[in-house]
Amino acid sequence: MVPVQRKTRSQSKMGRSHKNAKVTASVRCPNCGSAKLPHSACAECGYVRPGLRLNLTKED
Ligand SMILES: [Zn+2]
Repeated sequence: MVPVQRKTRSQSKMGRSHKNAKVTASVRCPNCGSAKLPHSACAECGYVRPGLRLNLTKED
């Protein structure tokens, strides 16, 4: 396949824009204080929201 028209520098860079995207959003767990992703359970203690807490058990 041969492209009909060469992409401009701007178009090439815009196409690659998602490759350097990082997840920067994080919140402190109100239960244990460690960093966790918003709207997800805490990896340390399993806290989700008041009244809901996951039971974390190691499955090794
Ligand atoms: Zn926690």
